[in-house]
Amino acid sequence: MSQMTRMKHAQTIIGRLNHGADLLEELTGICRQHDIRLGCIEAIGAVKKASIGFYDQQARAYAYLTLDKAMEITKLSGNVSVKDGQVFVHAHVTLADDTGRAYGGHLAPGTIVFACECIIEAFEGPALERVFDEETGLALWGAREQGRSAGTE
Ligand code: ZN
Repeated sequence: MSQMTRMKHAQTIIGRLNHGADLLEELTGICRQHDIRLGCIEAIGAVKKASIGFYDQQARAYAYLTLDKAMEITKLSGNVSVKDGQVFVHAHVTLADDTGRAYGGHLAPGTIVFACECIIEAFEGPALERVFDEETGLALWGAREQGRSAGTE
């Protein structure tokens, strides 16, 4: 059974990011500044260059693709939770180049904002804590604790 929790919507934060900012660092900084520990993020805009990751499921490691060109952010979708006691943003992006070709992946540091309009939805309630998941090698939401308490192992 999937592990789902009902949360109450608390607040929406909307604005534009600074030109030249590192996209992932800026989103994380905004969440920390507004004390958002649980939420979701949506954005559109453009980047000067990008770094996106792909999780190699066999190697259990991220491989990164560097795209050194201007692109549109046609979609950024992400969430906010807690990892190692710190606010943690996990986001994926789809970016389109001047031919309309799209690239997508896990948003990594090194993606530089040209312009970006962003909406962050904050939720009320206890934050989801990321813990190491044996099955995937990833830090996933409360997988270990919830699995044990539900008696599914
Ligand atoms: Zn990811």
